[in-house]
Amino acid sequence: MTHTTAVLGFPRIGEKRELKFALEKFWNGSIGFAELEETASSLRLRHWNYQRASGIGSVAINDFSLYDNMLDLIVALGAEPERFLDIADPIGRYFAMARGDAAHTAMAMTKWFNTNYHYLVPELHGGFRFGTINPSKIIREHRDAIEYGFHGSIHLIGPITFFALSKCSEDIRAALFDPLLEQYAALIESLESIETEIVFHEPALSCNVSGNDLSLLKIAYEELCKHYGRISVATYFEHSCEATAVLVHTPIETLYLDFVYGPENIHSIPLIARSGKRLGVGIIDGRNIWINDMEDSLHQLETIASLIPKERLVISTSCSLLHVPYSLGNEELLAEELKQTMSYAREKLSELELLKSLFFGSQNDEKALLAYAENKQRLQERRTSTMFHDPQVQYRLNSITPTDLKRSSVYKERIALQHRRFNLPILPTTTIGSFPQTADIRKLRQEFKKGTISMETYTQELRQATRSCIEFQESIGLDVLVHGEFERNDMVEYFGERLNGFAFSTQGWVQSYGSRCVKPPIIYGDVSRPEPMTLEWSTYAQSLTSKTVKGMLTGPVTILNWSFVRNDQPRSLTATQIALAIRDEVDDLQKGGIKMIQVDEAAFKEGYPLRNVKREEYEQWALHSFLLSTAVAEDDTQIHTHMCYSEFTDIIRTIEAMDADVISIETSRSGNRLLHIFKEVGYTQEVGPGVYDIHSPRVPSAQEMEEQIHALLEVLPADQLWVNPDCGLKTRGWGETEAALRNMVEATYAVRTALS
Ligand code: GLN
Ligand code: ZN
Repeated sequence: MTHTTAVLGFPRIGEKRELKFALEKFWNGSIGFAELEETASSLRLRHWNYQRASGIGSVAINDFSLYDNMLDLIVALGAEPERFLDIADPIGRYFAMARGDAAHTAMAMTKWFNTNYHYLVPELHGGFRFGTINPSKIIREHRDAIEYGFHGSIHLIGPITFFALSKCSEDIRAALFDPLLEQYAALIESLESIETEIVFHEPALSCNVSGNDLSLLKIAYEELCKHYGRISVATYFEHSCEATAVLVHTPIETLYLDFVYGPENIHSIPLIARSGKRLGVGIIDGRNIWINDMEDSLHQLETIASLIPKERLVISTSCSLLHVPYSLGNEELLAEELKQTMSYAREKLSELELLKSLFFGSQNDEKALLAYAENKQRLQERRTSTMFHDPQVQYRLNSITPTDLKRSSVYKERIALQHRRFNLPILPTTTIGSFPQTADIRKLRQEFKKGTISMETYTQELRQATRSCIEFQESIGLDVLVHGEFERNDMVEYFGERLNGFAFSTQGWVQSYGSRCVKPPIIYGDVSRPEPMTLEWSTYAQSLTSKTVKGMLTGPVTILNWSFVRNDQPRSLTATQIALAIRDEVDDLQKGGIKMIQVDEAAFKEGYPLRNVKREEYEQWALHSFLLSTAVAEDDTQIHTHMCYSEFTDIIRTIEAMDADVISIETSRSGNRLLHIFKEVGYTQEVGPGVYDIHSPRVPSAQEMEEQIHALLEVLPADQLWVNPDCGLKTRGWGETEAALRNMVEATYAVRTALS
């Protein structure tokens, strides 16, 4: 049976995060697996019902996962790493791969393309031997769907993406290509579901694909189609024109393409038209939370329909709805005017239904026409409403000049002034900003939010925490202190809560990995800063000590990349608005005597587009946003930045152009190998390569860190180096933090003595 609407996947954590809580109970032993499975299967049923209630022609099957769908695929393909095969119980093995256990470290986890979802990285190597396939999860979910009377499609990650994300070398890929295809073939043959479409997700085809990838692609799908009658392919997050040109020559049934993030897919329409294949038009944004522009979508659909007959079109989500929250029905606190412009997963199902009626239905479907008119009106209101647009922000944007992006003097001159001002020893020691956010601190904040303690008590307690933190840092002899960030719930949320144009949902949870969810801020309108955001805490901390206290801000690009961002203007423009707000904060801090200021860009690299051709554009505006927010610093104000990663090889020129006086980075886990790039390109600014890994509770000895610093000195000269942990300490306990920092300072003293 053919269908006219489809979703490429639905959220699975549960709108009340039922899966998360059931998982946590299962892990701590308070429920058994049967009970966990019960929660899981009731969630699947509920989600299918939602889809069917909205008239979705094809509900998503096997999009569910207890932890991660890449991990499910690894199990299904018999691709479990050998190191877990000693665990006989399949459930125990599954969660050991996901989370590790006493005897096994977990599999690596990394970001799913440019989303905030994380998948488990397949571990392949040259001599890898696949085990037997394991289709039971897929069969079970498919059977359930059939039993309940749903029509659906089975969703699976495809072989090209499986390989691409396993990060194995070309050689290993070449060696494992045939065996992998055999596994896939056996898997789909075993599904006893020949009537049901299988949609292979191949977002890797939307990235930079090589000629080799494309020839493997052709072989793969020609082969798979021999083993199963109804195979379709979905690409998303970008266009996949190169791959489309290949796939149209394979026997696949439908191509699902993303027309939201890959408008260039339109160029493939003539090819698809000639091929006789069906096209899934991914037009409802699966990654953002704004209402769809129905008029625009209809227009696009009509354009496509002028070349491909309507009978061959399916309207779908651009990607899985995994990346958006469940339902606006659960949001009670958001302003009505804002809510009217928003759409979560369930609302997106309704949007699909509406588009279906408008496009496939009769011309005089009253209900649809009414909804269409309402959609137009809401968008029209958004275009003009003062809730979304602030003339003062517009005015300010127009008055930005190129000099606003440039410090007054070049680095060499600035750093001389800064050295004189701060008078630090060589290898200055510092931290990245946050100190342990203990249960006490979090409880305090909750009580304050609930209103059970007063603003005064809350502030007093935080002051106390800040005071002890300063005392501690002084007592161990750190050179540059921080206030500890006790007042911050989160490095983005804290700023968002103090800026106009931001909103916060109460139920807008999105799965990040396994049981972990995040609730991204919503940037809906013009951004401005009504008043200073951090000045009081920084100056308070500075008043407690004669040592320098470093001010701590989150940079514009990171704030943007970790939020749901309005889609009625370019992201670059929103970034510029945030940059202006941060710029004002930098200026207020320096005027208030805080002359060393760190602007964190933890997520700078996350925003890079998937396709190389679009990188430059992103780099340009991301760089400009950072410069706009920091270049207001006087010559003797020292700007630091911090980045949570270590791979700088491909972006080092941009990092250099950010013109920060000091950058701290996360090299502790990768050793010094990655630091060499700074030397190779003749990077002149100061660098603080993390000397220990804060992601682990392990306390490295002074001896170990001393060796680490000596190793750093082999790459960069002493007068260019800072000594610090590799990220903020908020997730650590006080015990390990105190011990590790003490050792870090001791190690630094030892190295200084050795050098003098
Ligand atoms: N200043 C922040 C902190 O220390 C930086 C965190 C981050 O980079 N993720 O917590
Ligand atoms: Zn970090």
